[in-house]
Amino acid sequence: MTEGTDILNRSFGNAGRICGYDSVSAEFAEFKEFKVKWRRSCGWAEFEVSDYVKDAPENVLTGLAETIFSKISRQVRNSYPQEMLSWITSDDFVRKKQPIYLTRAKNLARTPVGKHVDLDAAYRRLIDMGLMKDDKDIMITWTKHVNTKRVGYCSLLMKVVIISSILDTPDIPTFVSDYVLYHELIHVGRGFDPFGQRHGTDFHLLERRYPMHKEAEEWLKRLQICI
Ligand SMILES: [Zn+2]
Repeated sequence: MTEGTDILNRSFGNAGRICGYDSVSAEFAEFKEFKVKWRRSCGWAEFEVSDYVKDAPENVLTGLAETIFSKISRQVRNSYPQEMLSWITSDDFVRKKQPIYLTRAKNLARTPVGKHVDLDAAYRRLIDMGLMKDDKDIMITWTKHVNTKRVGYCSLLMKVVIISSILDTPDIPTFVSDYVLYHELIHVGRGFDPFGQRHGTDFHLLERRYPMHKEAEEWLKRLQICI
């Protein structure tokens, strides 16, 4: 057992005992997204924990373990502990883990430059309009193949924004892809909040700051694709 796995087992073991689980084991897994999977029975639990936290200090893993056990035990916990949130939302975390995420994510062109639309130029337009702040850690990319189910997607932790190449065409006005990018960048700007509401009233208020939001929404409806 490596030192990291050792700390992981100690963290989950201690948190489990408090909740009545005497036999607890945990190992790191190479998931694309940050997540924890578990199997459990009476007094027994087994965890697979995203290896993005493999180098996390013990207090971070303990915080994660306590949150997961309170979720399992159906105790109310609205967020991860602050020390864990600070660690997984740090600039250092994004810079180290984003390249790993990009190798695991399928269907990424890994470039913002499409055949017709440059998403980096779109980002600069949003900054010039005063709608966005410049964040050098954000990675914007087209999908490799057209995604017809979702037009935009983002990883808040990894600060990666993915736009479906269905919009990379001269047949659709640029304000549509700009708007979709803006939508995803609002999510990234609001930060990692796994327990929060994704599209609440405050989100829609921000979304409506985009001057052509109505026209863009109409285009997306016509294309029958979700944002
Ligand atoms: Zn959204």
